[in-house]
Formats: sequence, structure tokens, C-alpha cells
Amino acid sequence: MLNLKDPSLFVQQALIDGNWTGASSGATVTVDNPATGDFLGTVPDCGKDDSDRAIAAAAAAFKTWRLTTAAERARLLDRWHDLLLENTDDLALIMTCEQGKPLAEARGEILYGASFIKWFAEEARRSYGMTIPAPTVDRRILVSKEPVGVAAIITPWNFPNAMITRKCAPALAAGCTVVIKPSELTPYSALALGLLAERAGIPPGVINIVTGLPKAIGASLTSSPDVRKVSFTGSTAVGSLLMAQCAATVKRLSLELGGNAPFIVFEDADLDAAVEAAIVSKFRNGGQTCVCANRLLVQDGIYDTFAGKLAARVRAMPVGSGVDDDIQIGPMINVAAVGKISAHIEDALALGAANITPRDGLPAGDRYVAPTVLTGATTAMRLASEETFGPVAPLFRFKTEAEAIAIANSTPYGLAAYFFTENLHRAWRVGEALEFGMVGLNTGSVSMEVAPFGGIKQSGLGREGGPSGMEEYLEIKAFHLGGL
Ligand code: ADP
Repeated sequence: MLNLKDPSLFVQQALIDGNWTGASSGATVTVDNPATGDFLGTVPDCGKDDSDRAIAAAAAAFKTWRLTTAAERARLLDRWHDLLLENTDDLALIMTCEQGKPLAEARGEILYGASFIKWFAEEARRSYGMTIPAPTVDRRILVSKEPVGVAAIITPWNFPNAMITRKCAPALAAGCTVVIKPSELTPYSALALGLLAERAGIPPGVINIVTGLPKAIGASLTSSPDVRKVSFTGSTAVGSLLMAQCAATVKRLSLELGGNAPFIVFEDADLDAAVEAAIVSKFRNGGQTCVCANRLLVQDGIYDTFAGKLAARVRAMPVGSGVDDDIQIGPMINVAAVGKISAHIEDALALGAANITPRDGLPAGDRYVAPTVLTGATTAMRLASEETFGPVAPLFRFKTEAEAIAIANSTPYGLAAYFFTENLHRAWRVGEALEFGMVGLNTGSVSMEVAPFGGIKQSGLGREGGPSGMEEYLEIKAFHLGGL
């Protein structure tokens, strides 16, 4: 069992209308620990009935929650934020045991997740409207913002805490109520968040959490006319399916979908800084992030030097269970993930790539993948067009800036891109030419609560975090006062 300071944070029930409950069918799904494959616990396998009840609870709670003052909502969010910080160690341990990431990264995610709650507690008070000069003297026009209504929040397993707070905090700040469907692979981080929200004093029904397999819950959330907004983070395939399912009831949508991030290193880059950034961008969470560098494009003249420096760092990375000290690469989430990553490596090797970081021996178990640097990557390989979602850094060689930009943009995805140069002219040119929602110049990280996060093309719709994050949960009302 988990060795928690507060064992009550490990909850194995769904949260509907302020009640911790099983599924009405009595069904459960099991959750395992990816480091060992061992059984971790069960959660209710909620079906349509449970999801419908959660939506009804959220709709009822919306009637009063929307009338609370922004200051009151900010106060409750602040308390929730503080409780995350007070319980960081336990929340991190729960996360590592269900998700696999090293404990230090899990702690980092709790702080990152909490930062969204803090940010939106502050933003809650700044949901300003405006007045517009009217075209006739007997009219006034006021524009105000109102909460959308019940928001459905569907989240993935790679950031089991922060993907929820990044959606839930702005929803609550705006005056919306929510039904959360966390990934069935990582439900316990979500349920612990729900418990802490309850302890913070957020009223029953404002946050509901339905656990279990996605199909029935997804169908209920996307078809209910009471759900006015769906915010989803996950694969493009599921995002596009949800979009189609939401069409009949014309819901507002925020979609954070797949990426295929280029990471371009020019000859005039600070190579050591680029290597450090590549380590952060490519290997954080074992490469299981939607913004992680998927294709490293390296200019001809520095290709071999960069490859050598990166490989030296990667060879030294400890792989193992995330609860052990100093681990940098934990287990992958499941066997299917390992299968896809291995298939990408094999495909690349068959097409002429070279593995310059061979490693003897990995920890026991079927979830570990050696962090790998591949040289000689080409656009014919699967890893050029598909997200590998693992600790594999394929190095593509290019000669000119135009060629790098063309390769970088030749993807239907447009989430994050990174590039490294010390040349100011090139910095502007390339930054403006990259067709991505987020561009990092001389940095490997673009995720933070203060900046808009989101993609273009098939990477999604809308932006989370930053000054515009709350807009996703607000409707604009134009109030015309006539005949004055
Ligand atoms: P990933 O590839 O990151 O696992 P998915 O898109 O499969 O991403 O999953 C992201 C989230 O979407 C998870 O919570 C998952 O349960 C949910 N999900 C998967 N399929 C559906 C569906 N048909 N309807 C609603 N939610 C779904």
C-alpha cells in the first residue's frame, strides 16, 4: 500500500453531487503501478447513469455557484491551491505510483498544477466587460461575460494533476461547474484533487468526478444538452471523435491534441544550452508529453558535435522506478506505449538510422524503454510523422534555414516548436515562419500558467492558461438598453 502521510487522500470512489460513491452497476476497473505492474487499486467503472447524475448535479449546483461573487470563488480557489501545496508529498507519491514519472517530476507537477489554481483565482476578479458607444442617442450597449454553464473535462494520463487544474480552475473561476472524467489509467490524482477541493469548501456538485472506461461516459457528456462546454486533452483521434459527438448539441470546445514538435539547432546556436534544453524537452516524463521534441533537426556543420554531447548526457540517465532516488526515466505508462516506441526505433534502424546510445540491461518489467539517440533520421521514418511519445531523440540533418523550416512545418500538427540560434535576424525570421501555437527560442519549455498554451491545425482549438484561459469558459453577452 502507499505510504502516505494522509492515507485518506487515496480515494477509490467517484464523486457525484458531494457524495463519494461506486458505479450504479457496481462495476469497477483496476489500476496498476507501471513500475512494477502490481495492482494499485480499483475505481468505479461509471456508466451512462452515473455520468447523467453527475451532469444533473453540476447543472443544479451551477444555479447557485454562478451567483457567487468573484471574490468568493477566488477565496475558495486560493484555499484549494494551499491544500495542494500542503499535501505535495502525498499527491506526488500517488502520481508516481499510478503514472510512473520520477518523484521529483511528480512534485514539480503538483506545483505546476497548483499554479493554475492560483493564477485563475487571481484572474477571477478581472473578468471585465465593456461599454460600446451606441449608434443612436437613445441607446446604451454593455458587454458582459457570463459563465458558459456545465463544463465536461476529459483528461489524459501523462499529467494527471495539471491537466485537470488547468481546465477546472478557470472553469470554476468563471462560475462554471464541472464533471471531470480523468484517464482510467491515472484516476487517483484526480480523486485526491476532488477531496482537497471538498476540504477547501468548494460546494457539493460544483466538482464531480466520474471514473472508469471512457466510451459510455464520453457519450453521455457529449450528448447532454446540459453540458455546454467540453474541454479535452488527449489524442487527435479522440478529440476529433468528441468534436463530432458534440456537433448535435453545438457545444463550445477546447481541444489540446497531439503534437509533432520540431527542435531545430542552427550552427550559430549555443550548443551546450541546446543540449540541456533538448534533455528537458525530449526526456521529461520519459518523452510522454504532447509538447516534447519529436524531431530534432540539426544543421550539418554541428551535427556530429551536437549528437556526441547529447548522447553523452543520455547514456548517463538512470532508468528505473520513479520512487527510487535520482531516477530520470521512469517506466512508460503501459505495454502498448512500449510497443509503439519500440516499433518506431526498429523502423528507423531498418531504414538506416544508428542507435548511438546502446545500453545493456534495463530494470525488470515490461514498461521500460532505454533513452535513445538515433542519428541518420529521415522523413521516410515513422517517427518523422507520428508522435513517438517516448524517450527517443531522432536527429535529422539539414543544410539551410529554408530546408529546416520546410521540414518543421511539414506536419498536420501545430502545437510546439523550438529553435536555437544566437542570430537576432534568424530568431525573428524563423520564429515567425514556424506554424505552431507555441514557439520556444533558446528554451525547451513553453508550459507555464501565465502564458497561453495550445495548438493550431490538428493540434487543437483554444488556449489554456494565460490571460485568455478563462475566456474558454465565458460567454459574451451584449446588453442593449433602447428607448432611453
Ligand atoms: P492518450 O493517447 O493520451 O491515452 P486518449 O485520447 O486515448 O489519449 O485519452 C485521453 C482521455 O480521453 C482519457 O481520459 C480517455 O479515457 C479519454 N477517452 C478515450 N476515448 C474516449 C471516448 N471515446 N470518449 C470520451 N473520452 C475518451
